[in-house]
Amino acid sequence: MRDAAWLFLLNNNVCRLPLDIEQIVAQNDWVLLLYEENIKVANALLKGRQDTWQDGVTCVYKGFKFIIYRKFTNLGRWRFTIAHEFGHITLLHLNKLSNEEYEREANMFAARVLMPMCVIKECKAYTAVTIASLCGVSLTAATFRAERLQILLKRNKFYTSALEVKLVKQFKMFIKENKF
Ligand SMILES: [Zn+2]
Repeated sequence: MRDAAWLFLLNNNVCRLPLDIEQIVAQNDWVLLLYEENIKVANALLKGRQDTWQDGVTCVYKGFKFIIYRKFTNLGRWRFTIAHEFGHITLLHLNKLSNEEYEREANMFAARVLMPMCVIKECKAYTAVTIASLCGVSLTAATFRAERLQILLKRNKFYTSALEVKLVKQFKMFIKENKF
């Protein structure tokens, strides 16, 4: 699971935060669709699943992935919603019945790609406020991450995976420029 998020960031050549949602969508040939502005197309893609989704949902049509989302006033929430859909796509949840476990996994995936732990640690972004500003997430999401960071710091649970070592190297310039 943690590997999936690290691989996602490595394979997409992400080396800066906040994660550029639109760039990820473009380089994977996915499509973002605002529901309120594309109701006809979206409903055709949803094929009767109109009532089964809340903030966002991914539909596959002829091999293309369409991420449909509802209009938000809160940018942080929008970013988390789309990253959650990245999780469903990456973890191969599509075309399976959604369940609680998949939702939890997609949320964890979103937190990990939006707020990669090794990067926030190296930037010394130890508080929810600094994490929120560094990663472009809501204060609520950043608060959970800050709590998790404290636990990992106490256990000194970093760089046990070669993927994490590789990822922090990919962010080297960013970390240099963004140390708190
Ligand atoms: Zn979901």
